[in-house]
Amino acid sequence: ESLTGPLTIAIDHLDFSYDNSSKQILKDLNIQIAPGEKIAILGKSGSGKSTLTHLLHGDLEPTNGQVTINDIKTNVLNDDIDRYIGVINQAPYLFNTTIANNLRIGDEAASDDKLWDVLDRVGLKEMIQKLPNGLGTLVDEAGLRFSGGERHRLSLARILLKDVPIIILDEPTVGLDPITEQGLINTFFNQLEGKTVIWVTHHLQGVDSMDKVIFIEDGQIEMQGTPTEL
Ligand code: ATP
Ligand code: MG
Repeated sequence: ESLTGPLTIAIDHLDFSYDNSSKQILKDLNIQIAPGEKIAILGKSGSGKSTLTHLLHGDLEPTNGQVTINDIKTNVLNDDIDRYIGVINQAPYLFNTTIANNLRIGDEAASDDKLWDVLDRVGLKEMIQKLPNGLGTLVDEAGLRFSGGERHRLSLARILLKDVPIIILDEPTVGLDPITEQGLINTFFNQLEGKTVIWVTHHLQGVDSMDKVIFIEDGQIEMQGTPTEL
């Protein structure tokens, strides 16, 4: 399946339980996400936020109801889903190879110039220029030099190279100090302008710049509205 034009996400009467459990994680959830819309999803630990991101990405099949992009169920898109949705979570995965190879996972054909451009956009250009082997530096070798925030920036750089229209951020700033966190949030939102963003977060810091905030409790929407309404 191939999706064209602006992408609309529809979560429609979605129920979800894990196979091995009778506990209903999501109950008759309905959410529409317009192309380019920025949504924050808040909720207590265990309320089903990450489960929802897996359903959006098509990794899980709804128990009832559906999750679609332009009327195509996400769980039938298989690997094609990665052309439309990029995910950054708490523990971005870096491969044991060069910085350049780690970035080219997003775009195999990207020139070095393009890699530098994207590193500049995420605020890592100077730091990587200073490494003796630059883009050829092994991530393994440089592992200790990459802080949590820097790993997230690399992960964002990879997604920017891929240029997908929908980005899911699942608590990407957890565990960072508040100043690093704010810097990272600013970079995310500057760079993701025009894209659809679904941002799972555990606190209200930074949600002012979102179009809509949704609170999930016991698998249902407890409250939703614009940041100023809430
Ligand atoms: P947190 O804020 O801690 O990240 P969350 O809102 O993302 O929490 P989920 O990870 O979606 O919550 O988990 C929701 C519920 O589903 C929890 O009760 C969790 O134990 C359960 N759960 C998650 N993954 C599985 C799984 N693979 N099999 C069975 N139950 C699971
Ligand atoms: Mg989670």
